[in-house]
Amino acid sequence: MWDELVGQHRVADHLAAAVRRGAVSHAYLFVGPAGAGKKSTARALACAILCDDDACGACAVCRRVKRDSHPDVRVVAPEGAATYMVEQVREIIRDVNLSPIEADRKIYIVESADAFNDGSANAFLKTLEEPPDNVIIILLSTTYDGVLPTIASRCQIVRFRRMAPDDAVRLLRERTGAGETEALTALAATGGVLVRAREFLESPPRRAARDRMLQTLKDLTVSDEHDVLQAARTLLGAVKAPLDELKAVHSEEARERADFLGSKGLKALEERQKRQLTAREREGVSEVLNIAESWLRDCLVMSQGLDDLVVNRDEMDAMEEIAAIITPAAAARALSAVKVTRSRISYNVSPQLAVEAMLFDIREVLRCPR
Ligand SMILES: [Zn+2]
Repeated sequence: MWDELVGQHRVADHLAAAVRRGAVSHAYLFVGPAGAGKKSTARALACAILCDDDACGACAVCRRVKRDSHPDVRVVAPEGAATYMVEQVREIIRDVNLSPIEADRKIYIVESADAFNDGSANAFLKTLEEPPDNVIIILLSTTYDGVLPTIASRCQIVRFRRMAPDDAVRLLRERTGAGETEALTALAATGGVLVRAREFLESPPRRAARDRMLQTLKDLTVSDEHDVLQAARTLLGAVKAPLDELKAVHSEEARERADFLGSKGLKALEERQKRQLTAREREGVSEVLNIAESWLRDCLVMSQGLDDLVVNRDEMDAMEEIAAIITPAAAARALSAVKVTRSRISYNVSPQLAVEAMLFDIREVLRCPR
C-alpha cells in the first residue's frame, strides 16, 4: 500500500517508520490539496496498523480497508450542509468509546477537518486530545488555515504536496493502460484525484455520465425550455446509474458478513453503506460539474489559439464552433455558473434544481457569447 502512494515518499516513509517503531500518534492532521493522496495515505496507514503483513494491500484486512468496509476503520464526512454538526460529533464520540469489532485498534478517517464549527469542534476536543488507547484519529483537510487552531494544535501535522499534473497522467496511464486523452479527461472529471480517476476509467456508467454532460452542452444552444429540463433529468439519471455498481458491492458485503455480524452490526453496516451511497452520489454530481467546467475552459483556451492546453481532445471538433465566437468574458460567466452550482449543492439545494439553473445560465452565454 505504501508503494502505491506516489509523490508522497517522504510522508509514507515517515508514517511507515512510526508504525514500525510503535510510535503512531493518536491524532494526525493531513493537510494538502485535493488529489495529493491524503485519503489513500490514511488508508495505507490504517492497513499498516491493522494488517499482519505490513500493509500488504492484498489480504482480507487490506482489501476491506481499501473499499471502506472494515468495521474498525471508519471514514466520516460532514452530514450537515458543509459542516460537522454537534449531534454527528456526539455520535462519533459514542462510537470511539466502543471496543473494536474485529481488530485490536480502531481508526477514524475524518474528512473535511475544516468543516468543524466552534460548537462541533468543542464537542470533539477532549476525544481528539485523549482518545481511548486503541483509537487513532486521522483528520484530512485541503488547507491548514481553514482548520480551527483548537483542533490543529491537538494533532500531529503531516503536509502533502500537490502531485505534478504530468506525473498524475503518466501514473494513471501506467496503471490503467489508458491513452493520454482518456487519462487527461478522467483526471479533469475527478478533480485530479488519481484514485478516483482510475475508478472513473474502470466504470462504464461513469464514463457514460461524462458523455451525457458533453452532449447536453453541445445541444444547449438549440434547446428550448422543455429540452433543458429534460436534459437535466437525464443527466442526473446518468449520475445515479453508477450507484448500482456500489449497491451490488454492498449487498454482496452484507450477504458475506450477515452470519458474522449481529443485528446491531448489520444495522451499523447498513448505515455506513447508506452514507457511502450519498457520498458517491455527491461525487457523481461533482464529476459532471468538473466535466462541464473543463469543457468550457477548453472552449476558452481554443478561442485563444492555445489548442495544446485542451483537455477534452476527443471533443475538439464540437468545441471549435463555440471557440470561434466565445469571448473570455463570456467564458468566465459560464464558468462562474458552474461554480455557483457547486456552492448551491454544498448548501443542500437539490442537484436537480441547481443543474437546471446552471444549464439555463450556460445556454444564455452560449447563445450570446460576448
Ligand atoms: Zn494486508
